[in-house]
Amino acid sequence: MPELPEVESLAADLRERAVGRVIDRVEIAEFSVLKTYDPPLTALNGATIRDVARHGKFLDLVTSPASSAGTLHLITHLARGGWLRWREELPSQPARPGKSPLAFRLRFTDGAGFDLTEAGTRKRLAVYLVTDPAAVPGIAALGPDPLAAEFTADVLGGMLAGRRTQIKGVLRDQKIIAGIGNAYSDEVLHAARMSPFRLASSLSTDEVAALHEVIVGTLRSAVERSAGLAASELKKEKKAGLAVHGRTGEKCPVCGDVVREVSFADSAMQYCATCQTGGKPLADRRLSRLLK
Ligand SMILES: [Zn+2]
Repeated sequence: MPELPEVESLAADLRERAVGRVIDRVEIAEFSVLKTYDPPLTALNGATIRDVARHGKFLDLVTSPASSAGTLHLITHLARGGWLRWREELPSQPARPGKSPLAFRLRFTDGAGFDLTEAGTRKRLAVYLVTDPAAVPGIAALGPDPLAAEFTADVLGGMLAGRRTQIKGVLRDQKIIAGIGNAYSDEVLHAARMSPFRLASSLSTDEVAALHEVIVGTLRSAVERSAGLAASELKKEKKAGLAVHGRTGEKCPVCGDVVREVSFADSAMQYCATCQTGGKPLADRRLSRLLK
């Protein structure tokens, strides 16, 4: 799943390519992706791309419609299996519903454009056309952006105080901090040498300050690594930059211990016991149930 650094890089890449281009039309190949109906998608015909922004893990194409003075935001959330593919020359036949992963296609008047695709059977990719980004419920509910100046150690401390839930879940909660998902929460906790099961409310002021530094540092360096990369290269770069996430059974790059995982119904998290949990492996409920 693309998280803050990847969406930031997608936005930068798209800004470079798309700003100033004029939309010919958009085509829907998977009907479930479209979450809004007013204004209609045809309002984008003839619109010019003015900017590309990011809100948490949402990508926002800011456009000036041909017919009015207002602004239209074409917003997408790529969810777990979604991706954006820029194409200098789109095929001329219209995108149609079918078995392909193609969900949505945007055509510019010069023949270029991009496809939104989604792998897997669970269709979660979402597209919204709104006059105000805050009309998208997921954006309205977002917590502070960790790369924004307002996100200070004090702000983080305020958000963790009194929260008797595990830090791993808190970091992934978009309503608390915008943009961090399963991968970067694993990375942040590994870099902070903190157990994913620590209760958020139990962190000392020093631990909050250290965690804050690691959150900002981890995301900044991921953004820097992927800056200038095209969408097609981002996934590879993300994976190469991860120390523990998705690396079960490999060696921890810090201490050499084996990277372990805890599995849940539809996801898994990775951690290093030596770096994060005083050498004690965490209970994997799914695994222990299998062993009984
Ligand atoms: Zn380690």
